[in-house]
Amino acid sequence: MRLSRESVRRSNAESHRIAPISVTNACASGRKPARGLGEAVSEQEDANEELRLATPRAHLRAMDIDFSDDEITRYSRNILLAEVGGSGQAQLKAARVLVVGAGGLGSPLLLYLAAAGVGTLGIVDDDAVDLSNLQRQVVHTTARVGISKVASAAAAVTAINPEVAVELHEVRLTEANVAGLVAGYDIVCDGSDNFTTRFLLNDACVAAGRTLVSAAVLRFDGQLSTFKPGGPCYRCLYPVPPPDGLVPTCGEAGILGAVTGVMGSLQAAEVLKEILGIGEGLSGRLLIWDALTTRFRTVTLARDPDCACGHG
Ligand SMILES: [Zn+2]
Repeated sequence: MRLSRESVRRSNAESHRIAPISVTNACASGRKPARGLGEAVSEQEDANEELRLATPRAHLRAMDIDFSDDEITRYSRNILLAEVGGSGQAQLKAARVLVVGAGGLGSPLLLYLAAAGVGTLGIVDDDAVDLSNLQRQVVHTTARVGISKVASAAAAVTAINPEVAVELHEVRLTEANVAGLVAGYDIVCDGSDNFTTRFLLNDACVAAGRTLVSAAVLRFDGQLSTFKPGGPCYRCLYPVPPPDGLVPTCGEAGILGAVTGVMGSLQAAEVLKEILGIGEGLSGRLLIWDALTTRFRTVTLARDPDCACGHG
């Protein structure tokens, strides 16, 4: 039996309650974006949105937040979101985020956090830009091969948003310096490429009560989770580092550059959600992405009663 276009459309979209997402000229010009199928928006919400679009500065002043005209223009697409608004933008501006690793994950992470207006970004990396990095580490450039990664990443951050304060930590994370670094920031992001750093960071974040948003990639696979005080930590998932050589590095096994781009971007979205306190975070859940089959899944993580995170 040949299906009609109408029945196929109903089968594809309506039966699964999928609404279209449209990034059109209306969205690009700042007018109200197209609404999805079946989305119920009350008249009052519409009126509030029209007011916000019409008078963004008045809206911000009413909330006693002082942004320059340029900042309002720069962050207007954030401020238009009811979940962000002027107060959320101020929260982003006040936030201090530490990014460990200015590599494949750190590249989109730093760029999106900077673009979103996170006020202070700390960058930890002791490496220099190498030609073999550029296949995925898009925060760096061919012209900056040979210079330190923190300096190169800072140049990219400042180029996209000069309002962001960048703090450079050109060091390797060690037992001696990790606590001091973590203490200076509200949220910590793990975009490192080795287990020593991952375990050091986890233990320091547990001890200091900091939220750790942790992403990892290898070949065509990505993992992402958020470890918060009171929830499971990285050691609840992996109690001890694997023996040397058991898990290959990206340098040994390869990595598709776009996989780091996706995972670092997802990591940035989770960091922004944590700062804003919106949505459902990844504490207690691990997101797993298989790029070859284009499948995402999340598994539940429980706190390990024997883990040190429960005995602080
Ligand atoms: Zn734990």
